[in-house]
Amino acid sequence: MKENSFYLVSLGCAKNTVDSNSMAALLLQNGYRQVDRAAQARLLIVNTCGFIQSSRDEAIQVLEELAQKKRHGQLLIAAGCLTERFGQYVAKKVPQLDGILGTKNWMDIVAVAERLRSENPIKPLFHLPQAAQLSRDEFGISRAAIQGGSAYLKIADGCHRPCAFCTIPLIKGTTVSRPISAIIKDAQALQENNIQELILIAQDTTSYGYDLGLKDGLVTLLDHLTKEVPHIPWIRIMYAYPGYVTDQLIERMATQPQILHYLDMPLQHAHPKTLARMQRPANMDWVQKTIEKMRAAIPDLTLRTTFIVGYPGETEDEFQALLDFIAEIHFDRIGVFPFSFEPGTASEPLGDPIPPEVKQERLEKVMLLQQEISQQKNQAQIGNILSVIIEGYENNISIGRSYRDAPEIDGLVFADGKVSVGKIAQVKITGALPYDLLGHIQEQ
Ligand code: SF4
Repeated sequence: MKENSFYLVSLGCAKNTVDSNSMAALLLQNGYRQVDRAAQARLLIVNTCGFIQSSRDEAIQVLEELAQKKRHGQLLIAAGCLTERFGQYVAKKVPQLDGILGTKNWMDIVAVAERLRSENPIKPLFHLPQAAQLSRDEFGISRAAIQGGSAYLKIADGCHRPCAFCTIPLIKGTTVSRPISAIIKDAQALQENNIQELILIAQDTTSYGYDLGLKDGLVTLLDHLTKEVPHIPWIRIMYAYPGYVTDQLIERMATQPQILHYLDMPLQHAHPKTLARMQRPANMDWVQKTIEKMRAAIPDLTLRTTFIVGYPGETEDEFQALLDFIAEIHFDRIGVFPFSFEPGTASEPLGDPIPPEVKQERLEKVMLLQQEISQQKNQAQIGNILSVIIEGYENNISIGRSYRDAPEIDGLVFADGKVSVGKIAQVKITGALPYDLLGHIQEQ
């Protein structure tokens, strides 16, 4: 075990990955060394996810495994969203914990580590100062996470939306946008690093800047990015909130070549009654009109969305309305999740009346319908030449993603030929699978 060393496990979403990277950067800046085996580390850090029950169970399991293998002198620290909301519960579940830190205070990781190493305080050391909201102070640390030629860039965190099923506002508090100058500084550093794809992330990117007094803040930010980092070929927008995809945003997506013709806009359902119970925008007329507007302005648009099935009170008719909507709109990508009962959210009084087997049955029906649609959409790509960012190489096959694919959640492109990882290659599409594409690398 090396004295100033740490081993870090990052769980959950891309926003948590960025927080993990920022904690690692702070530790490295303060003389620590990152190791890739737990047995070698003095500090064992788990950046937890607390979004839904299954992610909470996973976090506890990872902590318990590290606790069982913990050696004398090692310090086990739990950080992130689960501890932010349920610190006492985590301490009870994993009594071998030495330190507990919340997601709002990722920047205090060095101070917590130093106190544990030097003062030998009563364990576990709770560092959960009840900050009203996320801090804007980033200690000059990059709020990005690089993966090959791509980078997640956090533009804001927290959320002020009232979605009845969601725990994010309970964990992170309201929306806190990063100053444009800080985002541009990170983006310029990534451009220096020859990053090819910038993936803008927040809980809701379309509310970027509203707390800074910006109207249509995401468009303002995009204008700064396309001006200040012209050598990053791809800018991808994730997590747009329905009702806030403005005409200006559509115009920028249609005219700015760096902004990918890809949008992730979680809708969660399609029946106005279900959406009303979810406390989500229920104006389906707006949704349809906006999708038509986007497709008219951006004919090769790739549209991704997310749905929840089995929400309390979801009748067969409401579910059928969802299926009909999916069959009509033909989304390119869909994520679907069974409703997860979350104590403390506005949906708690509704309970969890839909049986798990019915949720599963509805989830499978959505996936089956979408699989056919996705296959058709992929079939239509045959003969096209797509730009593909290469992420791996195996058995003479380069593996990557086209503009139609966000990392970890969408499809892949498998192309004959070799191009270095991190580069964008032109690929002639020759075959289509339900979610992935096959092709040949074109001479560069
Ligand atoms: S917009 Fe997203 S993060 Fe915000 S409350 Fe709704 S579901 Fe949660």
